[in-house]
Amino acid sequence: SGRWARAMAILKELEGKCATPIGKLRQVADAMTVEMLAGLASEGGSKLKMLISYVDNLPTGDETGLFYALDLGGTNFRVLRVQLGGKGGNVLKQEFEEVSIPPNLMVGSSSELFDFIAAALAKFVASEGEEFHLPVGRQRELGFTFSFPVKQTSISSGTLIKWTKGFAINGTVGEDVVAELTKAIERQDLDMRVTALVNDTIGTLAGGRYYDNDVAAAVILGTGTNAAYVEHAQAIPKWHGLLPKSGKMVINMEWGNFRSSHLPITEYDQALDAESLNPGEQIFEKLISGMYLGEIVRRVLLKMAEEAALFGDSIPPKLGVQFILRTPDMSAMHHDTSSDLRVVGTKLKDILGISNTSLKTRKLVVNVCDIIAKRGARLAAAGILGVLKKQGHDAAARDGSDMQRRVIAMDGGLYEHYTIFSSCLETTLRELLGEEAAASIVIKLASDGSGIGAALLAASHSQYL
Ligand code: ADP
Ligand code: MG
Repeated sequence: SGRWARAMAILKELEGKCATPIGKLRQVADAMTVEMLAGLASEGGSKLKMLISYVDNLPTGDETGLFYALDLGGTNFRVLRVQLGGKGGNVLKQEFEEVSIPPNLMVGSSSELFDFIAAALAKFVASEGEEFHLPVGRQRELGFTFSFPVKQTSISSGTLIKWTKGFAINGTVGEDVVAELTKAIERQDLDMRVTALVNDTIGTLAGGRYYDNDVAAAVILGTGTNAAYVEHAQAIPKWHGLLPKSGKMVINMEWGNFRSSHLPITEYDQALDAESLNPGEQIFEKLISGMYLGEIVRRVLLKMAEEAALFGDSIPPKLGVQFILRTPDMSAMHHDTSSDLRVVGTKLKDILGISNTSLKTRKLVVNVCDIIAKRGARLAAAGILGVLKKQGHDAAARDGSDMQRRVIAMDGGLYEHYTIFSSCLETTLRELLGEEAAASIVIKLASDGSGIGAALLAASHSQYL
């Protein structure tokens, strides 16, 4: 019928606009490298902030003692404690708790959010068992993973540049987030000091390095997306401080804010961006990360409902609700292997109130998921190539001069659970690097390595050292 033809036309157009042929991905990778250089050259030199983390040494394995970590940056936050045994990189004991953040606190006031977090932290500290040992007379120390763009002023202080990922809290931008947390900790009568402020990428890098010496970069693919890597301190013109002894500095790229004319952007992405909490920002993140993939699919399906009556004569009202289709549900539909696409049918019914869909329609929905997920995965691979290029690994590996193993520590629910996404990313990276170079580059899933990483950095920046 004409309606079906129209739906197919929308699909074809989407496919064309989202296309990421290898040549385009190379342009994206090159643009990433160029922006990295510009961001390192001067403050505000690029959309890529290339933030200096003040981490000039990664964990060695010699860290000892009891340390806490707090991870804030998505829909959940986690509190964690570890007892580090030193030599040989031993984590003697580790415990964590996960608490979801009430949505109203994500758009409320700063003190309410920090009070909620500090209260959960105090409760967790109160449950500390005998296996954990704090030497007499010492204060507990904490590594704070705060996964929003922060301008660090030292390893343990920094001001918030902007909120992302659905957070929008008044009065925190420009404030020192460690001071905010410290005040809230004091309001709980908890005796604890924040000795390291890091981003989840930095935490993942530190945690990854603790277990594997070849880790030189970290990538997050979760609610949002970001990357961090080890840079030569001399290659950071905007750094005017003393050169660190190690000669190295970890850079938090904030690559979610990357944008380039080479990115394949559709009308759906433009509308999503315009209606978002942060229009014009985090464009790369809006193409790639878990917060947005399902929402892009919803927008495509809505267009198909409106212009091709895909789901019947009237438009299913729920299809008009922003963020109703979450990426885990998109992923479940995409991975449906049943012959009648039963999961797709159930999800459409349960989430969008669309019942009795035909197999043909379900297949079309899967096609939309496939286009959106693979575009995101391939662009993420291009981003990784950009980082490897900046570090000189791709060429070095290709001309055979340096076939040293390189590991990218990866974390995030999107990468961990969305198998089609992660396999597509890996295949694409291999395609971009070529088989030979790809053989020396490993992506290693470091689930929640950032918690341990933050605790390790709290240890290496302890007030008692
Ligand atoms: P955060 O990024 O908030 O720290 P995670 O790393 O745990 O948290 O990632 C959570 C995100 O991962 C979710 O917002 C969601 O987008 C994505 N995600 C979680 N489970 C799945 C899944 N089964 N399939 C696809 N994406 C998922
Ligand atoms: Mg996380």
